[in-house]
Amino acid sequence: YTSERYPQVQRDTKFKRLNEDDISHFNSILSKDQILHATPDNPLIIYNEDWMKKYKGQSSLVLKPKTTTQVSQILAYCNKVQLAMVPQGGNTGLVGGSVPVFDEIILSLSNMNNIRSFDELTGVLKCDAGVILQNAMDYVSDKGHVIPLDLGAKGSCQMGGVVATNAGGLRFIKYGSLHGSVLGLEVVLPNGQILNSMKSLRKDNTGYDWKQLFIGSEGTLGIVTGVSILTAPKPKANNVAFLAVDSFSNVLEVFKRAKGELNEILSAFEFMDSTAEKLTEKYLPDLPFPLESDQEGNEPSFYVLIETSGSNKEHDDNKLESFLEKVMESELIVDGTIAQDETELTNLWNWREMIPESTQMNGGVYKYDVSLPLPDLYSLVEATNERLKKFNLMSETESSKPVIAAVGFGHIGDGNLHLNIAVREYNKEVEKVLEPFIYEFVSSKNGSISAEHGLGFQKKNYIKYSKNDNEIQIMKDIKREFDPNGILNPYKCV
Ligand code: FAD
Repeated sequence: YTSERYPQVQRDTKFKRLNEDDISHFNSILSKDQILHATPDNPLIIYNEDWMKKYKGQSSLVLKPKTTTQVSQILAYCNKVQLAMVPQGGNTGLVGGSVPVFDEIILSLSNMNNIRSFDELTGVLKCDAGVILQNAMDYVSDKGHVIPLDLGAKGSCQMGGVVATNAGGLRFIKYGSLHGSVLGLEVVLPNGQILNSMKSLRKDNTGYDWKQLFIGSEGTLGIVTGVSILTAPKPKANNVAFLAVDSFSNVLEVFKRAKGELNEILSAFEFMDSTAEKLTEKYLPDLPFPLESDQEGNEPSFYVLIETSGSNKEHDDNKLESFLEKVMESELIVDGTIAQDETELTNLWNWREMIPESTQMNGGVYKYDVSLPLPDLYSLVEATNERLKKFNLMSETESSKPVIAAVGFGHIGDGNLHLNIAVREYNKEVEKVLEPFIYEFVSSKNGSISAEHGLGFQKKNYIKYSKNDNEIQIMKDIKREFDPNGILNPYKCV
């Protein structure tokens, strides 16, 4: 069980190995179609392997409960006999948190996919944890509302998964964190106890707000089975502009001006470097790039996607046009385009949302999702590029080099950089060059080694770069209090 991939960690011998008695017990709780067994022909790869194909577990059992009571019965049993378990939503997490490390049972929430209620007056949606984000979006959209969160994985990730990772995403700048918009949760603790607080209240200061602990807990404290979330009124007007910018300092200046000029209607401010867009052009060969190179054929260094969402189209159009004229006059941008209809709007978003797929398509991708002070944000990409060149590990064309490119993009509005290193294959030499270098760099700038993806398995051992000893100790104490046997998502997070 000491996987070759994970020489740094041993299977914890306190955990029981699954046997026929356990299977019989699960058969008494769930129907046959809710239990998946690994076979030589079907090693349950879609559950055992993560989205990046970087982390792979060896679980032989997936349980798919349909009710909170079933989740509770499963957990009470696993806790009693010490069977380790990984909660899994859409399996789109990017830090190896959603798949087993060894033989942990996988508890998939995908069968818990009912909308429980929607209040058209307050906009509060209550749903099961396994509802796919896109389905929740479509449901509330028909009722004139939007989920206050959007991300590229929306077609697969689940409401419980986004809560468990405290996902940030593309509209954080407008709607803020899930710590604000989640109003209540239903959670099953490792001992099987159901904590029900599916409230609709925006204000509730009756002591500790315990649900906050589960937002971002990465499946280590309890299983989220229900989510109550405040949705926002659907904007009546949406605009998207795609701009070319020559330097990172100008990206920041455009951002500063956008905040001031577009103010309440600014709903996204994303940036990407030209290398990220070159990879995306290969991934989207049928979609013409929205901007052209200049007359000498020079590529601008950066692109910016600005979205506005408001309630009055004419007002928003005027604001955006006036803003664009000013940044153009100040020579802060070198080119730009505005979407003229829904199709163009979707196409422009594709140039941002397809970057993760395009960096992964040639074999693999090392992903670093970090927070940095804005002036330092891009310096990490530059430093990483220099380092990969110094170690002679990178070439776009030479197939003998493991790294294809190191690109930067992300949510400028939130100080959140995604540094993606596209590789031909996962490679220990590359890993040694990247880590702990990247974490040391982020720490030296007082940033965070995880802005929104969490710690999972990837960053568990690097937490010290973002939290001090006392903070780490209190996290361990909280974990022990909720999960004294440590059965939930072991080897991850803390
Ligand atoms: P999973 O991947 O299944 O699980 C993630 C973690 O949560 C695991 O530790 C798991 O054990 C735990 N978990 C899942 N469900 C539950 C539950 N019901 N109860 C308890 N624990 C649970 N993230 C961002 O923040 N912003 C982005 O912009 C963003 N963009 C992305 C784009 C792409 C293309 C991809 C693939 C991922 C992106 N992500 C982004 C990563 C993000 O963390 C996930 O997409 C999402 O939040 C995870 O949801 P999931 O249902 O897939 O959870």
